[in-house]
Amino acid sequence: MQKQITEANFRLLLDSLLFKGQRVVGPRRSGSTVLYEPLASASDLVIDELPRRSVKEAFFPVCEDLLEYRKEGQQVQLTDVTPERFPETVLIGVRPCDAAAVPVLDAVFSWDYKDQFFLERRARTTIIGLACTTADDACFCTAVGLSPHDPKGADLMLTPLVGGGFLVESQSDKGEAFLETWKDRFAERDGTQPQELATPATQPFDLKKIKAWLDKHFEDAAWDSIATRCVGCGACAFVCPACHCFDIVDEGSEKAGKRRKFWDACGFSKFTNHASGHNPRDLQPKRYRNRIMHKFKYYDDKFGQTLCTGCGRCIRICPVGIDIAGVLEEIEGK
Ligand code: SF4
Ligand code: SF4
Repeated sequence: MQKQITEANFRLLLDSLLFKGQRVVGPRRSGSTVLYEPLASASDLVIDELPRRSVKEAFFPVCEDLLEYRKEGQQVQLTDVTPERFPETVLIGVRPCDAAAVPVLDAVFSWDYKDQFFLERRARTTIIGLACTTADDACFCTAVGLSPHDPKGADLMLTPLVGGGFLVESQSDKGEAFLETWKDRFAERDGTQPQELATPATQPFDLKKIKAWLDKHFEDAAWDSIATRCVGCGACAFVCPACHCFDIVDEGSEKAGKRRKFWDACGFSKFTNHASGHNPRDLQPKRYRNRIMHKFKYYDDKFGQTLCTGCGRCIRICPVGIDIAGVLEEIEGK
């Protein structure tokens, strides 16, 4: 279904949602950065800046408690978190490179083990995407098969219209239900054209060619030159909408504490450290190789797509200037 809405009415709609007690999460200024955070009012919503971190944390928080334990005598008491009580959420202003990563995460978190913490949040969330009218030098969604108005992963898609307001297109049953619930806020299409959308500069990669090289070059001197500068800070994985590694740690004493789940990163030197002390990825190039292999070979082998949506965040954040698009260009040219 297609509708349209003025920006003023869209913000009024947001305020109505918040007034009803609906949890609404969207890009919001937090100090000097913009992050996906709960909004307190429609005026909090920032629609002209890509959040520093990705939308994955709406489903997969940086850190969360899984259970609490307490030992009394010989008895251990466990108190579970109840994911069934996670709140219904409307996630708004989600960029296509973020929304497209959500189905990628769905595949991982429901493949062998069903991660209830991820899946319950996912089931309770309606995703309202927002097409991009600007791109910076780091954006390369079009080089990995997406686009600045790709609706993948969104339940409703907003596209800015010439003269203001948004074209609104439902993409799923959740999107249809949202339009139906708030139908008095939306107008019929009047033929106003969408604004010109962003055009990232990077040319499309031949992802099949890149994968074919990766298939045959687990051992290759190129990894040393590609990754020699990487300092293993993990920032690229933390800002990435598609990276999803985590660790589970018991914090506290033998008498009481919490079991917690934290983001982890394959760039960290201890990521693959065995209890014996042996570390199969003992050097940084092996860790960076894993990042590229996972994104453009292993995930493709397992789920038939790449683990990168071209958001460019890892390029913007890397303290030593490693540019994943440049790495892909280098591999493609081999
Ligand atoms: S690998 Fe980099 S460009 Fe690709 S989705 Fe992750 S952060 Fe974005
Ligand atoms: S952000 Fe850069 S330096 Fe840090 S782990 Fe990633 S590639 Fe390495």
